Amino acid sequence: MENGTIPVHKLTSNPTAAWREISKNQKIIKLNVKSPSKPVEPNKVRFVCMSDTHSLIRNLVFDVPDGDVFIHAGDFTKCGQKEEVMQFNKWLVSLPHKHKIVISGNHELSFDKKFSDYFKKTASARHTGSLEDEVPNYGNTKDNISDAVNTDNIRQYLTNCTYLEDSGIDIYGIKLYGTPWQPEFGGWAFNLERGEECLSKWNLIPNDTDVLITHTPPLGFGDLVCSGVRAGCVELLTTVQQRVKPKYHVFGHIHEGYGVFSDGKIIYINASTCDINYIPKNLPIVFDVPLPEGQ
Ligand code: 5GP
Ligand code: MN
Ligand code: MN
Ligand code: MN
Repeated sequence: MENGTIPVHKLTSNPTAAWREISKNQKIIKLNVKSPSKPVEPNKVRFVCMSDTHSLIRNLVFDVPDGDVFIHAGDFTKCGQKEEVMQFNKWLVSLPHKHKIVISGNHELSFDKKFSDYFKKTASARHTGSLEDEVPNYGNTKDNISDAVNTDNIRQYLTNCTYLEDSGIDIYGIKLYGTPWQPEFGGWAFNLERGEECLSKWNLIPNDTDVLITHTPPLGFGDLVCSGVRAGCVELLTTVQQRVKPKYHVFGHIHEGYGVFSDGKIIYINASTCDINYIPKNLPIVFDVPLPEGQ
């Protein structure tokens, strides 16, 4: 299928109902999460995936396996404060991987222009007291949030990785692409309306992507919430299965959807390190990709 021709599903705003329909024609395989028992073969590239560490890396109860490429699929902070980003950046340098790839999730408020611009505007207005009531209510995290988004150019603190945001990188001839957007939930960063808005971002993913990194799961794979509803994006699934067809799709966001799945062709990895109670106990997920010919 050509880029830009994926349709919006009629049930896009009700992913649970959409999956009831779509799953009739899907193969759904749950794979075991295995720690690597052997070093990577010389003709392969080892990927090590984590996600949703939420500034809890000090509490990890496992060692991060070595590999060639480390991937973090977003939500590395609680609300994108400068101190959190600096702490994460410091931790990254301690990892042995040659390549480290990071994307944002909905918790990285300071990386989303919508938030930084909004708070910049209101910060000056708040001095006069005029806009106080217009600050969105995030419970007791409100002060943290305004701290977070008052940091100029937050990306400068992320020096020990390649940060992808609607962009890609070629590693040993393997094409990676990363994007932080997810279907609207709670008004956090990189939220978009289900349907057309989300699809406009998925339409930017190149056809030749081998390893796709998003924060949100696609519909049906690693997206089942405790409450029993599906939270994945319908158009992301369609884009992945019908147009991009990557070898691997790595994501997080729905912590309780942690695990490895397949539709018989594509491997879906929900790498959420934190569980539903924000305990960072899920093991990193490792896979090896053969080097493309000539590399
Ligand atoms: P986070 O706040 O870290 O992005 O997500 C934490 C948890 O919130 C997830 O594990 C999931 O239980 C819930 N959650 C996040 N996004 C959605 C969504 O779009 N729909 C539903 N129903 N739950 C969500
Ligand atoms: Mn999370
Ligand atoms: Mn492809
Ligand atoms: Mn998230």
